[in-house]
Amino acid sequence: MIGSGGPDNAAASGKVRGSALLPHPDLSLHYLPHAEIVWQSGRIREVRALLGPAPSGSLLWMPGLVDLHVHWPQSHVRGQFSGQLLPWLRESIWPAEAAFAEPQQADTAIASYLLASQRAGTCAGLVFGAPFAAASRRFRALAPPGWLEGPALMEVHALPDLLRPVPETLAELQSEPPGTLVAVSPRFAPNVTAAGLAFCAAVAAARGWPIQSHLAENQDEVQWVRALFGGARDYTDVYDQAGLLGPRTVLAHGIHLSDRELERLAATRTTIAHCPTSNLALGSGTMPIERLRQFGVPWTLATDVGAGPQLSQLDVVRACLAVHPPGAVTAAEALCRATAVPGAWLAQFEDRLTGLGTLAIGAPAHLVGVCNVVAGEAEAAVRELLAALPVDAEQAPLAVMAWGEAIAPANG
Ligand SMILES: [Zn+2]
Repeated sequence: MIGSGGPDNAAASGKVRGSALLPHPDLSLHYLPHAEIVWQSGRIREVRALLGPAPSGSLLWMPGLVDLHVHWPQSHVRGQFSGQLLPWLRESIWPAEAAFAEPQQADTAIASYLLASQRAGTCAGLVFGAPFAAASRRFRALAPPGWLEGPALMEVHALPDLLRPVPETLAELQSEPPGTLVAVSPRFAPNVTAAGLAFCAAVAAARGWPIQSHLAENQDEVQWVRALFGGARDYTDVYDQAGLLGPRTVLAHGIHLSDRELERLAATRTTIAHCPTSNLALGSGTMPIERLRQFGVPWTLATDVGAGPQLSQLDVVRACLAVHPPGAVTAAEALCRATAVPGAWLAQFEDRLTGLGTLAIGAPAHLVGVCNVVAGEAEAAVRELLAALPVDAEQAPLAVMAWGEAIAPANG
């Protein structure tokens, strides 16, 4: 199924009945106890409420999940290593990523990641690649529409095999055919010079490409950035001075931030990808959800595989509710931030993604069917669903459609 099921595939038509969760980017979530969902040529055509309860044995349907922060080169080692961020990167992750200089190895890992991710219900995403332009091209060749990827740009402070001047890598990517979308992906401030970061921003602006990086995940990382960039007020200012903040930018984590930094993120409409399963695994801390709300910083939920051990965004939704105090976030909101909110962010880059992460008419027909629950309204339906999921929610989806075509589930 990988690479097929594009938006104009006339064969990708069908309908299902069951109950349905309908998330919206405005964080509202509607629940239909009994509904029929119809799709045609890979797009949602109709969602209508039916009378009475859904028949027993029918599934609870929701739009395909969307993950705005994940590393495909770490998918095969997810959850295998522990330790704090910087030694985890140096001792385990960077050596693992070095293998993908070899295109054959990259092909195998990319195909495996995409299939596993879709089986876990994620049908679109913003993805960090290996630090090699050739591997990034392979991702674009293998991924269906809706997946944006870029090589992790690294030019200093890592294994020599991973380092290359940012302008060289970006020049290679810019030579790809017109219309190609590449995520400009400086790995994080310590791996790129100030000039390299500014070059990233200039290329992204010229090409209309998205930007992704990491921000303030770990205290040692924050100290390192302070030592490396003496001319910046703080970590966020390193990216701000380079011109990297804005509505087309996703920065993962955003845990250790001052009020001034939150103000700048809000003013520039920069999105933070909150990755609670990853933060738990590396002991990084907890994103201050109430402070992001107070300043109005946009945020979304993401897996951050491979620091995050599981590909399922349902695991992330569940962890989000577990790590924040009761009342800090509702289950309905958390589900919207794993579907409609990241979907709307990705859709700003491609018209064919309009409605991504929702079941709106004309949206990509990405559907996830999970075990049904008995509930009177949306919040209770999500909470009951999360309680019913297995410990590893990756095994939970019973049915997944991407662009209207069935993906064989992992447990099927
Ligand atoms: Zn990450």
